[in-house]
Amino acid sequence: MNVHVAGQTARDSVSVSRHLQHIAQNHFDRPTLVIDSQAVARQYQALDRGLGRARIHYAVKANPAPEVLETLVRLGSNFDAASRTEIEMCLAAGARAEQITFGNTIKRPSDIAFAHNIGITHFAADAQEELEKLAEFAPGAHVCLRVIVEASGADWPLSRKFGSSASMALSLMDAAAGLGLTVHGLSFHVGSQTRDPLMWAPVLDQVAEVWTAGRAAGHDLKLVNIGGGFPASYKTEVMGAEEYARAVMEQVNARFPDAAEVMAEPGRGLVAEAGAIAAEVLLVSRKHADDMFRWVYLDIGKFSGLAETMDEAIRYQISTSRDHEQTGPCVLAGPSCDSADVLYEKQLVQLPLGLKAGDRVVIHSCGAYTSTYASVGFNGFPPLDVVVI
Ligand SMILES: *Cc1c(COP(=O)(O)O)cnc(C)c1O
Repeated sequence: MNVHVAGQTARDSVSVSRHLQHIAQNHFDRPTLVIDSQAVARQYQALDRGLGRARIHYAVKANPAPEVLETLVRLGSNFDAASRTEIEMCLAAGARAEQITFGNTIKRPSDIAFAHNIGITHFAADAQEELEKLAEFAPGAHVCLRVIVEASGADWPLSRKFGSSASMALSLMDAAAGLGLTVHGLSFHVGSQTRDPLMWAPVLDQVAEVWTAGRAAGHDLKLVNIGGGFPASYKTEVMGAEEYARAVMEQVNARFPDAAEVMAEPGRGLVAEAGAIAAEVLLVSRKHADDMFRWVYLDIGKFSGLAETMDEAIRYQISTSRDHEQTGPCVLAGPSCDSADVLYEKQLVQLPLGLKAGDRVVIHSCGAYTSTYASVGFNGFPPLDVVVI
């Protein structure tokens, strides 16, 4: 990743997005993500107010730009890391080991040993083998068992790959205790981009059942880790972060009155809206003279930062300098020579009829899951550049 910091602008107007202003005032010779660190700070504070007693552990994978991590360190955030490299990024930004949890359920033994040696004590697991690794390389560690939950209807579900069933979670609690680990709590992920807080209810019910059964079996569960899922406004507006978080916490507190600790791991909801990508149209064409729609090819695609357009799951809002002109339907595609590099075609995008090669486009709410999803340079197209202002 190529990160540089632009000079702070003198004007600090809160009403106009600084990152959009920066894009409007600058030329970029390659697709560039511009992130407003002040917007990240405001979003952190809004989530923090709404989350009440829950501690925030930022899911580093959403955007590990050093200035983003440093901003969050200054605000007192904690971090959830998934690998040694992410842990090192947090430390480099000034976080202490006590502020970092190792939440990936699939860990390399040498990474576990590294984390343990520097003083990280909280780890997630969802399988017997992982518990054995923890017992060997992080003896005595605090473990959060990740529970599999039925999909909530999130736009970017995370349900199948992680977690264990309720009954398996109970036997893993016994196994962890038998291995000398501290069974500290439960974790889950409701699914990323869970647009409505009410979608949490059935998921929280499932986790509460495991919680009650675990405590009944004699495990002194203390922590509920509610994971991420906090949404960002893309094509559709979502509720404000504070109000959303408050609505989630009401449901959490109703179901886990006896939980001594609650933590949340927002990624997308914390950083997505703070960034936008400046990109360029490389070609506008039709395949047949009588086609009803055009193909618009950008200089950014699935392999250079827009991986979340997979299955058209995340629908970014796109603006152009011609937004006052009449629009027509388009297939939107990336620049690489791979036919999978089409962003939107099942649901066409309305773009100005006058759009042509060389035009600037701005892709909104791109602060999460873009820069780190860019390949190092598939087809010679450069990875997404990042500028933090
Ligand atoms: C990715 C991830 C998150 C962040 O999810 P968002 O939906 O982006 O908030 C939180 N916790 C874990 C364990 C994750 O893997």
